[in-house]
Amino acid sequence: MSISQTPGPLKTPLLPPLLGASVDELTTWVQQQGQPGYRGKQLHNWIYHQGVRKIGDISVFPKTWREQVADVSIGRSSVDYQSLATDGTVKYLLQLADGEIIETVGIPSDNRLTVCVSTQVGCPMACDFCATGKGGFKRNLNRGEIVDQVLTVQENFQQRVSHVVFMGMGEPLLNTENVILALKCLNQDLGIGQRSLTVSTVGIPDRIRQLAQHHLQVTLAVSLHAPNQTLREQIIPSAKTYPIEQLLAECREYVQITGRRVTFEYILLAGVNDLPEQALELSQQLRGFQNHVNLIPYNPIQEADYQRPNRDRINAFVNVLQKQKIAVSIRYSRGLEADAACGQLRRGKK
Ligand code: SAH
Repeated sequence: MSISQTPGPLKTPLLPPLLGASVDELTTWVQQQGQPGYRGKQLHNWIYHQGVRKIGDISVFPKTWREQVADVSIGRSSVDYQSLATDGTVKYLLQLADGEIIETVGIPSDNRLTVCVSTQVGCPMACDFCATGKGGFKRNLNRGEIVDQVLTVQENFQQRVSHVVFMGMGEPLLNTENVILALKCLNQDLGIGQRSLTVSTVGIPDRIRQLAQHHLQVTLAVSLHAPNQTLREQIIPSAKTYPIEQLLAECREYVQITGRRVTFEYILLAGVNDLPEQALELSQQLRGFQNHVNLIPYNPIQEADYQRPNRDRINAFVNVLQKQKIAVSIRYSRGLEADAACGQLRRGKK
């Protein structure tokens, strides 16, 4: 194994902002302020369970100390705009400390509450069918800015978040360090099961392997979208430097190292990648995986002129995959009319 494949120890970010920090980090921080260590646990509880936004509001802390640290940032965003779709999905535009805006989506269903979080402001991948990529890239989010999105949805729904999908704006594996720290925080500090956390990636060379080395039990979803390299390059520019065989080889390593399955996502674009023979080719590519394919019928965006295939074509595609013993689900995205569905996140108000 080369050095670049070994995951280095994650760097602990400097505090503040405090959000994203573990109870140990918070304990060290309060001690550095000359306070007794047990205040770290109190601070942890107020940040993650009471939703406090300012240290000055933590009533159990001594007044003089509260005043001294009143300006220390916890790192919460503010809701700039929100829209509710008829299916109950809520899209939030959140304003960050530096004024940047990101999108987060809350998706309620039965007893679940799923949050779709962003990992970057914008996205540099420029996939041809995705509105986020059309707007360019600004910066990575830090771990607290990712965790904040989950707390915000939880507070707004007044319901515990059960699942988090890293499928909002941005490419998570271009921000691996903060994504892993955020995954750990969601699991350890907010108590969300690792298996209820899903990271979705279009694939960045070596990064799936690196993620695997952390031995998390999270679900990996890979945005494959095409059954071969030629077509994949046409719709995903970044695929040019990452051959599909190499991507699938890393996915196999992920399965071996973590013992987890990989889910493949496949957008359905009429006349582009939805033919029965392409379904057959896809099933051949995925041979050997205990796999699951999530079909996402294209959600229209202004900036592209693809079409969503009709039901018959979608069913024909599904039938081929099922005949090849591939587990398939069709994800009709939620929140379509609020522009909250997959691919529609562009920091716009609607
Ligand atoms: N960058 C990551 C995270 C984005 S997840 C990734 O690519 O996986 C969002 C999912 O929605 C991805 O599978 C993405 O390819 C898909 N998507 C993008 N635009 C879409 C659109 N217009 N309609 C349906 N799905 C889309």
